[in-house]
Order: sequence, then C-alpha cells, then structure tokens
Amino acid sequence: MRSAFLRTAILAAALTAAPTALNAAQDGKAKDTDASKCNQGNCVNSWKGTDAAAQKVATDFGEAYKAFLHGARTELLTVTAAIAEAEKAGFEEWTPGTKVGPGERYYKNNRGRALTLVIGGTAPVAQGVRIVASHIDSPRLELKGRPVYGKSGFALFQTNYHGGIKTYQWTNLPLAMVGRIDKKDGTTVNVNIGLNDNDPIFMIPDLAPHVDRAFRNRKQRDVIAHEELDPIVASGPHGPKGEHSASDWVLRYLKANYGVEAADLVSAELSLVPAMKPRDMGFDRRLVAAYGQDDRLAAFGSLKAATMLATPPQTAVITFADNEESGNVNNTGASSSYLTDLIGELLFAEMGDKYRQPHLTRALRASKALSIDVNGGINPMSPGAWETSNAPKIGHGINIKLYGRGFDANSEFIAWTRAALDGADVPWQTTTYKVGRAGGGTLGRELARYNIDTIDFGVPVLSIHTPYAVSDKMDVLALRDGVKAFIEHQ
Ligand SMILES: [Zn+2]
Repeated sequence: MRSAFLRTAILAAALTAAPTALNAAQDGKAKDTDASKCNQGNCVNSWKGTDAAAQKVATDFGEAYKAFLHGARTELLTVTAAIAEAEKAGFEEWTPGTKVGPGERYYKNNRGRALTLVIGGTAPVAQGVRIVASHIDSPRLELKGRPVYGKSGFALFQTNYHGGIKTYQWTNLPLAMVGRIDKKDGTTVNVNIGLNDNDPIFMIPDLAPHVDRAFRNRKQRDVIAHEELDPIVASGPHGPKGEHSASDWVLRYLKANYGVEAADLVSAELSLVPAMKPRDMGFDRRLVAAYGQDDRLAAFGSLKAATMLATPPQTAVITFADNEESGNVNNTGASSSYLTDLIGELLFAEMGDKYRQPHLTRALRASKALSIDVNGGINPMSPGAWETSNAPKIGHGINIKLYGRGFDANSEFIAWTRAALDGADVPWQTTTYKVGRAGGGTLGRELARYNIDTIDFGVPVLSIHTPYAVSDKMDVLALRDGVKAFIEHQ
C-alpha cells in the first residue's frame, strides 16, 4: 500500500511539475501517461476498447493458431508443420556453404525434431545475429521400449512421462498415439492415430468414486502413480476361437498394419498426447483451450513473425528446440552445439577461408537472443499462487521475465527490449515468481552460456503443463508482434 501511494504521489508531482519530462520517461506512449493506470508496460486488458476490426485480427489469428496446434502435437509433428508453413512463405532448405543474402529465407532441419529459420539481414553475420528461441516439445506420455503387456484381460502400454505432469490429470481423457518407429533396414514407419474423428483413441481409466476408498488417503502427487499411467489399447481375446490374448493380438495388429515387430518398438519414439481438438473458450470466444501451448504458442507466434519479415537489420535466426521439458538435453535440445555450429557455418559461408574461430565468438558477443516460454497466468481461483502485482495476467500481453537473483538479462538489454516493444506498440507486462514459492527454467541459459545477450519472454497461460491449457488470442498476437519488434529494432 505504502509504495503504491508513494508512486502515485511522485507521479502526480511529476505531472504538475514537468509533464514533458514524464512523457519522455515513459516512452511517449499515451496510454502510459494516464496516472490512473499503472506506469509499467501494459496495464489494461488488450481487448479493452478494441473495435471490430482489431478483434477480427486476433480472432483470425486464433483460427490459424488452433489449426496449427491440432496437428503439431509433438516436436516431430511441429517440425513437419513448420516446414510446410515456411515453404509456403518462400523458405528453402539451407545447405552448408550457402551464403544467406539480405532478405533471403532458409530453414535448417535438425533431425526432424528441431528447426531453425534464417532470414538474411542488412548487416553481415559477422556483426551478430538476432536469435529467437522457443521449444516444441510438451509434457506427455511416452511408450517404453517393451510397451505391450496383458493384465486382467486387457492389453496395455507401459509408459514413461516427458515433462512435469500432474499424473491424475492424464486419466479419463482421450489420448492419441503419434510418432515414429525405425526399423533395422533404415525405413521409418510414421504413426498417427486418434486425432481424426473416426480414429480410435486410448485412455487410462480411473477408479469410480464408489470403489476408491482404499486410495483416498494418497497425496495429490500420488493419486495416480507415474507407473500407473498405462492406457488400455485392446481388450478381450481375439481370433476365430479366441486363441489370441489381447496383448498377443496387439503385436499381431502392429505387424499386420504397420509392418513392425515387437523388437522394432525398441527403436521408436511413440508419444501419447491428449486428442482433444483446440477449441474457443467462453461465450466471447476470446480464449483458446488446447493441448501443447507450452511452448508451441511461442513457436507458432515466432513462425508467423518469421514469415512477415523482409530484411531485418541483423540476420534473424529463429529456432525451435526439442527436449526443454527434460532439461534441454540431447542433440536436438538447446544445450546441443547445433545452433552455434549453424551460426559458425553461416559465417564460414560469408567469409570463406578468412574465417577463424574468434569471428564466431565475436559474432555471438554482438548477437541478441530472445528466449520465449509460456508462464502460468493468474488463475482466478488461486491468485495466491502469485504475488499479483508482479504476476502475468491473461490478456495483458507478453511478459518480460524478471527472475532476479542473477538470472535476469542485464538492465541495459532490458531497456533496449522495452524500446523495441514500445516502438512497435506491443503490449507487455513483467513477471517475477512469488519469492521462494515458485520457479522454472527455460532455454535462455543455454544461449547466455555463449556470451550472447539473452532475455526471457513469457506469455501468460492457464492450466500450464496440463492436458488442456488456456491462452488469450490477443496474447498470441502480441507474441508474434513482439518477436517481430525484437528482430526489427535497430
Ligand atoms: Zn515451456
């Protein structure tokens, strides 16, 4: 209360004494000079005062977003969908040695699980690039190497989990199975079942309230143990005389329909993901409910921003990483040398035999990186999970993450970023976790390791890391515009 009163008092005094100075201090934005609103970033809901035309822009963007999310359920499917979108926008596959000229558009596919878009800037790569990073894996279940087993007349799949999940939320909901199975002969079998209306789905059944007394004392985290997240995939005996158990039949089915043996499932990446379609939420249709918005909201917004860029001041490197949910691991995760290797390759293509290793480290030092990952927005039922004056609010734009404790971008880079956002009139807010009560890591630290100026953005989302998350269409649009502003700012 005290500090809020003080701020208002100082603001009022400044308004009386030197209105011009105040305007300059607040980046000249009319909406920020209203002392009745807060004086940092966007303090009103982005829908407030919008006309039908502005609402249509957000609504149309929401339609494209939902269509993208419906197909892009895993990193594999997202890379496929993003390449299709990029090729429509004139991006071509980059091959080593190709110099990227101003305005030229390329993509680099890293093993089908990570992807980078490159748009040539006015300045040479040697003078630094503008990186935008997000991740395209989401929390889900994965099949173990020996998934099929039989129990009580059913066939089930043994699963593991990817990313932090509340296990009980994964029961009683339709699951689709997507991914790939790789065979010893070098061929790949793609699997995608459960997303079309006529497909069967898979499900992990929970106990009825009538019979669960013995389980009621379990703690929230153990209501369903991780090892109990096994979906039913077939039931009862099969065959003319019922000679095949359900689990035997599943293996026969996989052989007949996919041409794979049980041993092929060892070299497979099969995920179980929520099968629900992305839907509008609420009478006013302002929100999108969908699986996988962490972090494909950022990936979609960045992808769309990439297609809108002409020739940015520095070469834009928009990258989509795998495995953030498991700590950025593996050669397709952000801790891989893949991205800096690619920047080195771009330099080599630009400089030829003059290229030396210090050119890369100097270019990285001259680069700017934006790491984007969604944040849990204020939940109306549990606002106390946040210290609300520093919490991200749905519909209030993207959020600059201010972690404190040494994790932040340095203040001069935050100021540069504020100028980029305000210059393009992108609504933004800030986020600081409730001290000592919450936390989370992102891709940002993997970029900062290379001495790149790195800042973290979030976008507020409800029901994050659950099977069906919620975002605001205006925020998805703000993310796209924020990425574009970050890349285009001089
Ligand atoms: Zn995330």
